[in-house]
Amino acid sequence: MTEQSQNHSPGGGAKEVVIAIDLGGTFIKLGLLNNGQLLAWKKIEAASERGLRAQFPRIEKAVEQLLDKIGGNPDEVLGIGLSFAGLVDSDRNRIISTNQKYDDGPDTDLTAWAEAKWNCPLFAMNDARMALLGEWKYGAGQGCADIVLVTLGTGIGSAVLINGELLTGKHFQAGNLGGHFTVNYKGSLCTCGNKGCMESEASTWRLPSLLREHPGFKQSSINNEEVLDFKALFHHAQKNDKVASEMLAHCLSAWAAGIITMIHAFDPEMIILSGGIMKSSAIILPALKDKVSQLAWTPWGEVKLTEAKHSDTSALYGADYLVRSKL
Ligand SMILES: [Zn+2]
Repeated sequence: MTEQSQNHSPGGGAKEVVIAIDLGGTFIKLGLLNNGQLLAWKKIEAASERGLRAQFPRIEKAVEQLLDKIGGNPDEVLGIGLSFAGLVDSDRNRIISTNQKYDDGPDTDLTAWAEAKWNCPLFAMNDARMALLGEWKYGAGQGCADIVLVTLGTGIGSAVLINGELLTGKHFQAGNLGGHFTVNYKGSLCTCGNKGCMESEASTWRLPSLLREHPGFKQSSINNEEVLDFKALFHHAQKNDKVASEMLAHCLSAWAAGIITMIHAFDPEMIILSGGIMKSSAIILPALKDKVSQLAWTPWGEVKLTEAKHSDTSALYGADYLVRSKL
């Protein structure tokens, strides 16, 4: 568990604090914000396989602890911004579809929970869209109105801003399924039902099986690792392990293919990369910049590839902006 705070008092008892809740597959992040200032935040284990409603008591307790920390109280809460790793109807503030996480989400009345517990409105949004809002208003995307955000992690998420408007589409899917763009039509089955998605070619959930399927795996140095994650992959690739180097090249090519498709589809000026895998941005960013520069069709110039400014907390900042823009 991590916990961080700054010494800002929300002050005065006025309704000016936003509660941000970011429901990820591995962690739930919780924050208190005031107009782009992150007053305090923490993350707790998600236990997402136990469902969403089972998490409510732990979320409520963690928010109470954060309010105590900043010397605030529930009367000062303006609203809640909730981001979710799945498809979300942001008109009705309901979860539409989950992917093996929080499976009772679509049957859960989030706004009724917020009303009953904190007597305030709740606004829900897909987590990549929320992170994009946060980076656009308070992070790497400030001043740019045409952005694609891609999160590289356990899965791969994406969101799109065109001319300052979030792309949602009729069924709230538009721009969110970049991780499920086909980058290898001969590829293996993805959790979404499609084959050869960017996510099923190069993501944290897929990496262990990808490595074990490599014919040279048993003789490779990465075979000695207990956890087959991207940290191990980058480490062994830098030591010139053949299997790790080939797999890294494969993953970079898969990400480049997905990102170039997003550039061709959505015409952004900037790609913001976020997510746990970007902890190795020193390796990933230059390689992706080279491939995009070589392969993308952008006669107007070059798309700027950059990493998120608030890699852990983009969605918390986005929640703050969303709530204030809705009220
Ligand atoms: Zn897929």
